[in-house]
Amino acid sequence: MVLDINLVNNSNRPSVDSLVRPAEKNPMDCIFCDILTAKLEATFVYRDDPVAAFMDIQPVNPGHMLVVPVQHLVGLADLPSDRSAAG
Ligand SMILES: [Zn+2]
Repeated sequence: MVLDINLVNNSNRPSVDSLVRPAEKNPMDCIFCDILTAKLEATFVYRDDPVAAFMDIQPVNPGHMLVVPVQHLVGLADLPSDRSAAG
């Protein structure tokens, strides 16, 4: 699960969630887990226990960043209720 922070209307770009392959349900195959465990390089803007934010490697505008949960989650339904605004 990832929140794509981009302040420009970008309706032609596929959502990141639509790009997640079924294999990525496994944390061992997850690009975001690889970034969070430093297997892949990223420029972090923020990181604490529940979330991390880092710059997009293919930004569509200056400041384009991604916000992801530190815990591997496939979708919003997997977010623990104590970590969601709806919880
Ligand atoms: Zn992951």
